[in-house]
Amino acid sequence: MGAPFLPFLRTQGGRRLLPALLALLPLLAACASTDPDAGRTWQPADESSWATTARALAADLGATLVAEPGTRTLVIEGRGGRILFLDGTRMVTVDGQRLEASTTLQFGDGDVALANEDAVRISQAWKEAVSRREARERALAAAAAPPPPSRAPPRGDAVGDPEWNVPLKRDWEGILIHHSATEGGNLAKFDKFHREVNGWLMVGYDFIICNGDGGPDGLVQTSERWTTQIQGAHAGKGLKRYNDHWVGICLVGDFSRERPTAKQMASLRRLVRYLQDRCGIPDANVRTHRDVRDTDCPGKHFPLGEVLRAGAGPRGAEALRSGAGLRASPRGK
Ligand SMILES: [Zn+2]
Repeated sequence: MGAPFLPFLRTQGGRRLLPALLALLPLLAACASTDPDAGRTWQPADESSWATTARALAADLGATLVAEPGTRTLVIEGRGGRILFLDGTRMVTVDGQRLEASTTLQFGDGDVALANEDAVRISQAWKEAVSRREARERALAAAAAPPPPSRAPPRGDAVGDPEWNVPLKRDWEGILIHHSATEGGNLAKFDKFHREVNGWLMVGYDFIICNGDGGPDGLVQTSERWTTQIQGAHAGKGLKRYNDHWVGICLVGDFSRERPTAKQMASLRRLVRYLQDRCGIPDANVRTHRDVRDTDCPGKHFPLGEVLRAGAGPRGAEALRSGAGLRASPRGK
């Protein structure tokens, strides 16, 4: 009994009414238990102000309502998956998770009325389903993407011709650069000469770079010396270390008279860079033939400074570190 009634019950009339009030209590309780809306939230008389529909809910969620004729189901489809309503039951599922509607679902005109509280619960479950699906998609995308490189390649990332990329079988210490001292030529011609005239196994060099006379200007030809990784025959008698551990590159041309072509120099830089990266060869070990023996090879017009990775000397190395890199040759042919 509430406190406001107590003064009333203390009066004479109040005491007389008390048994009648007590007698009414079971009746009030019975009324409550037989009320079909017992336990429901309060509803105003005008249903349009509290009820919504599956179609309106679908529009709110940016999804599509699909009525399947001849079935007892209505489906909302969208980013959260599917919301399924089953006619004549309270069953609603949102992305496979079951919810209980507060009233029995009654389909009509390919739609179904929903209490606001149900619409709110369904919306909430839908938003959670959208989040779950988006998280799953992100995880799948992350799994499909290649992992970021854990570290830079230890010896740089110079790209060479596929035929340069053979398994290394020797400890390559350096690169020795030659000229052919002929106007033209190519791998096949030098190979024939070295076999037939010098009596060698094959052409003495690992690589030949053509100058347009005997082969396309700038073309790099790879000899079997390199592909089979056997010792070279280019440094000269008594220079076994250079034949065994220095890569021999021959540019076609006579550079005692003229410069190599711009395309030959570009190809040479690319090849030298590749070999340095691949074999871990320092600039100091990129040399010309005349640096190691008494010869003019590769001629006074051959510009070694334009080949080295960092240009000439420490200032060149500084320029490379600061991003300036190798400059193009200042002179053409
Ligand atoms: Zn030479």
